[in-house]
Order: sequence, then C-alpha cells, then structure tokens
Amino acid sequence: MEENFEIHGPGLTERDREYEKRLRPISFSDFKGQRKTVDNLKVFVQAARQREEALDHVLLHGPPGLGKTTLAHIIAEEMDVNLKVTSGPVLDKPGDLAGILTGLEESDVLFIDEIHRLSPVVEEYLYSAMEDYRIDIMIDKGPSARSIQLELNPFTLIGATTRSGLLTSPLRARFGIRFLLEYYDAETLETIIKRSSQILGVDIDTIAARELSSRSRGTPRIANALLRRVRDFAQVKGSGRIDLDITRYSLEAMNIDKHGLDEMDNRILSTIIEKFKGGPVGISTIATAVGEDGGTIEEVYEPFLIKEGYIKRTPRGRQVTERALKHLGKSNFGNQEMLF
Ligand code: ADP
Repeated sequence: MEENFEIHGPGLTERDREYEKRLRPISFSDFKGQRKTVDNLKVFVQAARQREEALDHVLLHGPPGLGKTTLAHIIAEEMDVNLKVTSGPVLDKPGDLAGILTGLEESDVLFIDEIHRLSPVVEEYLYSAMEDYRIDIMIDKGPSARSIQLELNPFTLIGATTRSGLLTSPLRARFGIRFLLEYYDAETLETIIKRSSQILGVDIDTIAARELSSRSRGTPRIANALLRRVRDFAQVKGSGRIDLDITRYSLEAMNIDKHGLDEMDNRILSTIIEKFKGGPVGISTIATAVGEDGGTIEEVYEPFLIKEGYIKRTPRGRQVTERALKHLGKSNFGNQEMLF
C-alpha cells in the first residue's frame, strides 16, 4: 500500500504523527472497539472485493482521536488498494482536487480529513466525481476557454469529520456508508495501551494500564499520548517498568484530571456552575463564556460529558449533575441550594 501524507492534523507535530503511525493498527483484527462499525465495514469490504468493485463512499463522524484516520488506512489495506490522504482546508482549489482525482487508480481510497471544511466550489466539484466518477475541467483562458469532461477510475472517498452538523446535505447524501464513532470504554483502552506498550517495548503492569485507561477521556489518541509521557517518567524517575506508582506520579506531574477530563471539559463545567447556577443554560451562552465555538462544544466536548454523567440535556439547555459538583469539589452553586 502506498501512502501519501499531505497534511498534518491540527495540533499534532511531525513527531506526534510518527508516533501515531507506529502505533496505528493495520488490520481490522488489530483495531479494538467500535465493534458494530468494524463488523459492518468488514462485510462491505468483502462484498466489494468479491464483486471487484470500489467500496461505496464512507463517512466517518466522531470526536478527534477515536480512529477515523486509522480506519481509512485499514480499509485501503483490506481492499488492497492505494490510499491518498488529504484534508478539507488543504484542498482549496478545484485544480488541486482534479490533480488528486485523476491520479487515483481503480478502487483506490481517497481520504479527506475535516471534510466539513471543504470550500463550496471544491465540494461541488466532488459531487460528479463521487456520483459518476467524472469531472469537468476548464482548459484555456478567455474566448477559447472550454470545459472538457474527464473520466475517473472508480474510487472510494472516505470523509472524516468531527462536525457532521456542518456538512451540507447534498454531500452527506452521496456517502452510501456512514458511521458515528463512539468513545471507548476503559477495558478496550486498556487493551490498546497494552498493545502500544508492546510495540514500544516497555513493560506495563495491568493495574497501571487500567489507571491510564480511566484517565484517557475514552480516546485512544490520548491513551497513547499519556503512555508516551509515562514511559519517560518510568525511564528517568523509575525502573523503566511502568507500574501503578510511577503512573500516578506522572499523571499528577502532568496535571491530568482523575477522571480524564481535560481543561476545556472542566472549564465548561465550572462555568455552568459558577456563572449560570448549574444551568439550564444554552450552548451558545456557554460557548461565549468559555471562548470556544458552540458547534465544537456540542460535537467534541459535550458528548463525553454527557456520556460520563457530568451534564444532561434538558429542553431549556444544559444542566450540570451532582457528579460535576462533586468532581469540582463544590457543594452548591454559590449561595444557591443544591436541587437534584
Ligand atoms: P482520528 O482520525 O479519529 O482523529 P486516529 O485514527 O488518527 O483518530 O487515531 C489516533 C491514534 O489512536 C492513532 O495512533 C491510532 O493508532 C490510535 N487508535 C485509534 N483507534 C484505535 C483502535 N480502535 N485501536 C487501537 N488504536 C487506535
């Protein structure tokens, strides 16, 4: 399989990318969790291979770090085709997209990360490519300018997005296969952490892997990133082996929340408690107060806070739960009584 990296994800350095690549599962059997999605994908891949056709276009939706890019790699690997990787913000001219599309071989996979950030003209261009494997390109300028139609090889577009709400309906409708990735439970993360430690050649106690998994915000990327740092602490401050003591010591040193909530999670909770008496309060009001985009709060932060029981949705907005108060060590909302 040929890989072609054209982008680096937001907030990830070249070294982070390298590290992630090392730890990335390369087959469905290596990929832990997301059982339903994986089982279904296996069937669709097998069916497409038997018919010797390109797999239908796939949309993967879910918070960052849950395995969208990894699944795109696995699909290409299991289809035994090439993978081309790019992203919505990088593809800003139709010409860039045309260049990539015409370079695809039969049944190849084109992965577009952050597909909700495609510019409208590029997106429109994609429609005929996805539907009929055809694109119109303009040649020449001025009076002799004309458009010619280019036939493309059948291909599979895999789009990844953290913000499915921002996808236009014509684009969404062109994906025959759509999956929402979910946060991982602690048990699955523990298996992922053990697998990663093996690849890195570092010994880790089960109880330490369990501790790490419970502090990883249900996210393999965070689990792997914490493991990398704990490995450093074990090497410099400990015996090299990752045990519970060195794990706790490292997590403490890195200010990692006991329940794996990150800074923004905690800011959202404390804002609802301190400024809005625990809620209910609307998303846009919370967004303004914490200085984050409302859609990002809704699609990246809130699902985990709801899943873990820190906030709940009510018809009048978001409300914190008793668990959130306990978590932040508060017994009431300022001078208000707790009402649960
Ligand atoms: P996304 O594209 O959703 O932001 P990635 O696919 O880049 O997430 O995953 C981030 C990291 O987490 C990668 O290093 C990958 O190896 C690891 N990872 C994600 N999902 C799994 C999984 N199910 N099993 C093992 N590792 C995983």
